[in-house]
Amino acid sequence: MSDIKIGLEIHGYLATHKKLFCKCKASRHSKEKPNTFICPTCTSQPGCKPMLPNSQAIEKIVQVGLMLNCKINTKNLVWNRKHYSWPDLPKGYQDTMSGAYSKPLAYDGDFLGIKILECHLEEDPASWNPETGCIDYNRSGLPLVEIVTSPDFSSSQQVTDWLDKLVLTLSYIKALDKNAGIKADVNISHKSTNFQQRVEIKNLSSIENIKLAIDYEEKRQSPGKVERETRRFDPIKLETIKMRSKEQAADYRFIPDPDLPIIRLDKKQIEQIKKSLPETPEQKLEKLIKKYKIDKKNAEILYKNFELVEFFEKVAEKIPPAEALSWVTIELLRVLNWNKASLEQVDIKPEHFIELLELVKKNKLTELKAKSLLNDFVPNSLPPSSRLKQAETISNRPELDNRVAKVIEKNPQAAEDFLAGKKEALNFLIGEIMKSSNRRADFKTSLELLKKKLKK
Ligand SMILES: [Zn+2]
Repeated sequence: MSDIKIGLEIHGYLATHKKLFCKCKASRHSKEKPNTFICPTCTSQPGCKPMLPNSQAIEKIVQVGLMLNCKINTKNLVWNRKHYSWPDLPKGYQDTMSGAYSKPLAYDGDFLGIKILECHLEEDPASWNPETGCIDYNRSGLPLVEIVTSPDFSSSQQVTDWLDKLVLTLSYIKALDKNAGIKADVNISHKSTNFQQRVEIKNLSSIENIKLAIDYEEKRQSPGKVERETRRFDPIKLETIKMRSKEQAADYRFIPDPDLPIIRLDKKQIEQIKKSLPETPEQKLEKLIKKYKIDKKNAEILYKNFELVEFFEKVAEKIPPAEALSWVTIELLRVLNWNKASLEQVDIKPEHFIELLELVKKNKLTELKAKSLLNDFVPNSLPPSSRLKQAETISNRPELDNRVAKVIEKNPQAAEDFLAGKKEALNFLIGEIMKSSNRRADFKTSLELLKKKLKK
């Protein structure tokens, strides 16, 4: 038996266009000017009522629940007011689909061997800076997903591996805002107290901090004499600090919100969502290895990026996977990295990419020229055939012969070096031929002509 039991309450920002109860833009970037996406509802002006809950958020939460193999409740989904007083919450309560008198929307799931107790939706409060006293309402009313697990984990490593896979799986349904990350409350109990004294660590804001906090708690709790309490993690001192004795659920005085309707979901719609779910990352990885015969290392590069793997599969419909692979995992990624962009942020059409590779195959474009055309695919791709007039491969032998002669004439030293046995000189000369032809000289023919001429 392990020394510790760990359970998680994970919070993530759902990737929706609008906030949960108003039409304000859902912007989660801390760089945005404070208080720009606000209205009377999400700033809790007196007399303001919420609008009907954002249907996109509800659909996303159903998707999340299904991806985690949960059952879905379709009836009597109640919004509760969870009361507490804090400067970030001027209305005095947070609307949540959890708490007393409520049934979770998704429940009783299993994700990679860890039981999912429930998965529900709630609104985010505003953000309050305790040093300046300033409140930013951009965040107020954003839809949050909360995923609650059983205390099934037994080590910090197991938790972090599992969380990485969770984030990856949810990225396949674009459920979470990529820029916002996840937060978690972590509960830990130790065998020294017979797992009876559960300590909760609140608001851990990264997977790294989650691991560090668990490691610290494991050591702290091992001698026993542990109180049931709520703590927080100090990421600078790398220790947890007591916040308060464990509160009871009743402290929040949950009551159903009379301003919000009881939600009922359409079973047919749930079936449709189920059918439209993508493969899981594990299924994708297996498919890459078995169907496309891709080595494990490249398969892992692909499956960790949903947009990239989808793109690869579209290209592989027309181009043999073995040929397409390096163009996607090396060349396409090179161009994206250079532009500091993700595939999602640019508009590169797979059909243009396929055309580019087909032109290389037909010897209409040199590989080098194709790579340079690919550089121009950001921010949006154009059909490569439209550039062919200026880019087409030069394969006319007399013309190439002429170019080769000129390059040798200009670089007599390199030609001599080659004849003296320096093989690198040949690379230099062929490089010069490619450069002088703007990467259009047919590589194979040029090399053949170059060797021939040098021997004379
Ligand atoms: Zn608003």
